[in-house]
Amino acid sequence: MPSDCLFCRIIAGELPASQVFSDESVVAIRDIAPRAPTHILLLSRKHIASVSQVGEKDRDLIGKMCAVGAELAAREGIAEGGYRLVMNVGRNGGQTVDHLHVHLLGGRPMAWPPG
Ligand code: AMP
Ligand code: ZN
Repeated sequence: MPSDCLFCRIIAGELPASQVFSDESVVAIRDIAPRAPTHILLLSRKHIASVSQVGEKDRDLIGKMCAVGAELAAREGIAEGGYRLVMNVGRNGGQTVDHLHVHLLGGRPMAWPPG
């Protein structure tokens, strides 16, 4: 675990977070600066810098993270109205934390295309 990684430190319990889900491969927390009424981050327990770095043996993890996102959307009551699952990748993608994560955003209409 990289000791300077924000999300690794949250997963390890070294930094506080509002956790909404946890299992052997995924941890979900509420985003500290929510951009929508529901804004949850699905984090891989394993440190992987981004989806660009996901190797063959970790591919199932991406499906798992999306499935947990759908489950939490239902739990949050936003599934019927619709929501967005987003991965920001790299500088142009707007990624600010280099640890694999999916944003679950919902509770309001979303614009397209994103900015
Ligand atoms: P990204 O820009 O896609 O890398 O997403 C990183 C997200 O992490 C941003 O939406 C931040 O608001 C969020 N964030 C940063 N620090 C924390 C924290 N300590 N707890 C929860 N979310 C955080
Ligand atoms: Zn990490």
